[in-house]
Amino acid sequence: MSLDNNLKKLDVMNQKILKSMLFVFFFVLLILNSCEGDTLENIDVKIEKKVDSVLSLMTLEEKIGQMSQVRHFEDISSDSDISTKFIGSIIHTQGPAPGNGALEWQNRFRVLQEKALSTRLGIPLLFAVDAVHGQNTFQGATIFPHNIGLGATRNRTLVKEAAVITAIETQATGFNWTFSPCVAIPYNEKWGRVYEAYSESTTLTSEMATAAIEGHQGTLSSGRTVMATAKHFIGDGATDLGIEGGNTSLSMHQISERLLPPYRAAVAAKVGAVMASFNTVLGIPMHSNKILINDTLKESMGFDGIVITDWKGYSRFGGRDIINAGIDMVMAVDGDLDFFQKDMHAAISDKTVAIERIDDAVRRILRQKFRLGLFKNPFPDISLISEIGKQAHRDKARQAVRESLVLLKNKKNVLPIEKGIKKIVVVGEHANNTGLQSGGWTMNWQGIQENYKGATTILQGIKESTSAAVVYDKQASENHFDADIAIVVIGETPYAEMFGDINENTTDRKLTLSKAHQKYISTYSEKGIKTVVVLISGRPLVITEQLQQSDAFVAAWLPGSEGNGIAEVLFGTYNFKGKLPHSWPKSTKDFEGKYGVNFWDVTTKPLFKFGYGLKY
Ligand code: BGC
Repeated sequence: MSLDNNLKKLDVMNQKILKSMLFVFFFVLLILNSCEGDTLENIDVKIEKKVDSVLSLMTLEEKIGQMSQVRHFEDISSDSDISTKFIGSIIHTQGPAPGNGALEWQNRFRVLQEKALSTRLGIPLLFAVDAVHGQNTFQGATIFPHNIGLGATRNRTLVKEAAVITAIETQATGFNWTFSPCVAIPYNEKWGRVYEAYSESTTLTSEMATAAIEGHQGTLSSGRTVMATAKHFIGDGATDLGIEGGNTSLSMHQISERLLPPYRAAVAAKVGAVMASFNTVLGIPMHSNKILINDTLKESMGFDGIVITDWKGYSRFGGRDIINAGIDMVMAVDGDLDFFQKDMHAAISDKTVAIERIDDAVRRILRQKFRLGLFKNPFPDISLISEIGKQAHRDKARQAVRESLVLLKNKKNVLPIEKGIKKIVVVGEHANNTGLQSGGWTMNWQGIQENYKGATTILQGIKESTSAAVVYDKQASENHFDADIAIVVIGETPYAEMFGDINENTTDRKLTLSKAHQKYISTYSEKGIKTVVVLISGRPLVITEQLQQSDAFVAAWLPGSEGNGIAEVLFGTYNFKGKLPHSWPKSTKDFEGKYGVNFWDVTTKPLFKFGYGLKY
């Protein structure tokens, strides 16, 4: 090659280097260009310009990287994978904790964020967690009642306040994204995720979901808020016979009337993300359902945020098809990362996925990163750590517990419990175990069956609220028949997702109370002792007989860390406020007709109607 040619080549290279230096220089200027003082529309216009400029600088590798979400430990071989694979987001679920305390969690995420920032374009990471009733993956956080209980409160302001607190505690542990709220509409109490949803009512679900989104996201870029996710799109709770990830045979018209409104409301509230669902709709997996994801959610409803898969969605639901259907980010866990990244490169080469689709996905991811203010403030705020589990937060959660309680029966005004009584016997494992009272998604995916940090048991609350002698008879075996009143706390053990389903394959879960728990009630009620039952459950259970045996009956759902909120209502400091978020089945048979494929032919009368709830 001649010298001339070499010089020419060098010249071209120099020009390229100069060009890319200039790009990066202008890019940095652009990023630092503040939006403060702007109107919302102006901010949006500015963000779109920034997104376009970043996108125009990105290589295909960087784009595919942005679309990848991995766990901070299990899915990467070392931290440098974050920069070499241009990862866009981190998820933390069950599995190795990022550290021992909030500071260690923050520091772990800081290290990963630094890796992301060290890349050519320095695009920050999103850190996601299932903070579905408080920052429930962190010992010491404030844990709110699960959504079914919040639905019972009918208190939109309270739900918003709870979401604000959850956002602060979530940020305090290093995250900027929560996979919440679940806006499912359960059609069948046999579904294992009924409690993650607010209600069987479409209207109530929309109201509560938007309150949660407003609370979580606030102004989004404040550093105290997190991006919210409406999930699982769509039909998760409406599968035939309540099977998690099953098929829904609702028609498109029914889906549009009954299930879409909460998503419409969420989009109007500017929810940042939507998660695709495990189920199929009329036989088509939701992850690859282009009509519903791309055409309906994005194009017709105008959703401009991120559509993310659910767990390992890429390999589970058809690979490239799901990207073509409108998925923007892939939860590339359990071996999916390399598979997804390689397959996307191949898909672009053989044109089975258009580069315009990739650009759209990345545009949405960058847009949310700008909206969150991550380019300016990529790191968690150390000063938030002292807010985790603080008294004001716990007081709010306690209020939520009080307001979520639904009084189903109160014979001869046994409630509120009289001040002058001498002896109370408290019965049941659930009375003295904060894990049991909190349900799934508490400290662990499937929940725990022991106490956790900072939480108060129901028994503690009872002891604090009375001057009577309180004895604890865990399994109704101690015969305290001299007691004036028995408070029997019974219900379900924690579960999550398919492990909570009730069907012919699950022998350990039923719609009825266990024989042992039925006996706890009859042991005391048959001796003529006034019996107050507190039911801890993630769904209405069939309690028709036990209702007759008891004097008062309270549906307490899954109250979370502030067990003392229950006693305050039993002893009359506050009256009952809660109203049923679901109609309540009379017998297991009843709901075979109401739910499942025949939902629309409902003729069966429930034991208690939606909205029922007494006061004293
Ligand atoms: C659940 C989602 C959850 C995700 C990440 C999935 O199994 O269906 O609700 O957000 O895991 O933990």
